[in-house]
Amino acid sequence: MGAKNYQADCVVVGAGLAGIYACLKLLEAGKKVILLDRDTRAHMGGQAVESFGGVFMADSPLQRRFGIKDSFDLAYRDWCSFAEFTGADELGRAWARGFIENSTRLLYDGLKKYHVSYFPVVHWVERGLFVPGNSVPRFHMVWGTGFGLMKRLSAALLAYEGKGNFQIHFQHNVKSFIELQGKIVGIEGVCEADQETFKATGDNIIMAAGGYGANLDLVRKNWHRDWSKPPKDLLVGCNQFNDAQLHEQVRHLGGDVINLDRMWNYAAGIPHPHPKRERHGLSLVPPKSALWMDALGKRIGPVPLVTAFDTRSMVSAICKAPAGYSWQIMNRKIAVKELAVSGSEHNPAIRDEKLISFLLSVLLGNNKLVDHFLKDSAHFVTAPNLAELVQKMNAINQPYIIEPELLKSEIETYDQMIGRGPTYFNDDQLRRLIQLRNYKGDRLRTCKFQKILDPAAGPLIAVKLNILVRKSLGGVKTNLRSQALRPDNSVVPGLYAVGESAGFGGGSIHGLRALEGTFLGNCVYNSEMAVNSILAGN
Ligand SMILES: Cc1cc2nc3c(=O)[nH]c(=O)nc-3n(C[C@H](O)[C@H](O)[C@H](O)COP(=O)(O)OP(=O)(O)OC[C@H]3O[C@@H](n4cnc5c(N)ncnc54)[C@H](O)[C@@H]3O)c2cc1C
Repeated sequence: MGAKNYQADCVVVGAGLAGIYACLKLLEAGKKVILLDRDTRAHMGGQAVESFGGVFMADSPLQRRFGIKDSFDLAYRDWCSFAEFTGADELGRAWARGFIENSTRLLYDGLKKYHVSYFPVVHWVERGLFVPGNSVPRFHMVWGTGFGLMKRLSAALLAYEGKGNFQIHFQHNVKSFIELQGKIVGIEGVCEADQETFKATGDNIIMAAGGYGANLDLVRKNWHRDWSKPPKDLLVGCNQFNDAQLHEQVRHLGGDVINLDRMWNYAAGIPHPHPKRERHGLSLVPPKSALWMDALGKRIGPVPLVTAFDTRSMVSAICKAPAGYSWQIMNRKIAVKELAVSGSEHNPAIRDEKLISFLLSVLLGNNKLVDHFLKDSAHFVTAPNLAELVQKMNAINQPYIIEPELLKSEIETYDQMIGRGPTYFNDDQLRRLIQLRNYKGDRLRTCKFQKILDPAAGPLIAVKLNILVRKSLGGVKTNLRSQALRPDNSVVPGLYAVGESAGFGGGSIHGLRALEGTFLGNCVYNSEMAVNSILAGN
């Protein structure tokens, strides 16, 4: 067993979006950089490669082109409302304000340099339910999804390889930091390809190793009190190396790791039909016209669940339901028009930048996706009538039992209200469907008040949904320069934390909730702040 020794101005740990962007900016400024990642070269780019590529921006040229009136003040008000910041979240507020004011400059104008562009429809997500959320649409889709974003940024970075100032090493598991006279001067670990130990030293160390969502013991231990107890079957929707190994090391150095109970989890997870890692889950974009039921066949309430308003409250309602998982009931017409999956893998038309295919899937529906899940996912069941559907649901619902009569009555109550016409819609799901369809970005993808038991819209489909753990909103506490802080807010000299490692800024930028699409953007923003600080000689 030998030992490799690397030396540079800056050592960056983690080749995800945050690490790659930091390296690019350091190299563009003439710094010598080493980038280390535990994964293989084929997986360079971390989670962003698999991401949907939705990016939050305030007052962007695209919003203006569509007549959406936004401003930094409005976005900040929405952010603070949704975050439900506490008095201890001053850093989080400051990070949020900074991000909002820089989002368009960095993500729209700044990424043009790397040929990143956006699909010209801005989506309206997380509108808010019990507390106000996005007052206007702000979710901009990268054309090419996160895959296209990372293809371009990775290519720009790899162009530096072999030119003297840049080294990148994969399968390098960074295990700890090296401290010398109170300053962090390096990292050490093991190369998992040959089991050799290695060290890398530099003037500054940037931790960009992602969050802690794959560490289910930690997730369960820190389950937020609002969510009752963690469900038995949690799915993992993030990178397998998001395991908090380095968060633990930051604590060991005296650094502060905060708000681990703040997580951005999703309500509509299914096990990946072809898993690439342990407990690998997919996050569905659940149809808004489907009915959301508990494991006994009762509609979850009192406020019905509909996506696009408040993801966190949906997670909370499901965790409090009898089994900690849920069911969506729909028919094929609804599924084909409204079902989608978050991520680049299941959106090939946008990922591969095929405009015609994408427009056709919006206009004609996504039969291919529905057929894929009906064939390959054990969590999708279909039947020509409700009695058969319930039988199939109960086969994967043990020890819970759905009473056919209860489910039938819940669905019929809803269908009958649709039959009476919009004037008499006294159901919060239907009221929200009206509001959703008022926005042209949603109208094409939302059925016009579709009855579930309509024989012309069948067959029926039921999907069993688990809670999926995705993003870590807590993490290393950082100041506005992305420097790691101790509990007394003094700096841990030499150590920066960016992206999901730092909970996307300060370990607190999102408070309890995200307005969505705020993760990718903050990886870029956090890294810019770190690089500016390093270049300024802090
Ligand atoms: C399917 C999916 C869809 C998403 N959609 C969106 C979206 O539409 N909009 C949005 O804003 N966000 C989205 N996200 C979230 C977003 O992609 C991530 O939050 C973001 O990419 C995190 O980037 P990061 O660089 O901080 O961390 P990561 O991408 O997790 O990268 C961390 C890197 O560090 C490496 N690493 C970890 N530990 C070590 C170690 N000890 N030693 C060496 N290397 C290590 C890992 O291998 C990894 O490459 C999505 C995520 C997923 C999975």
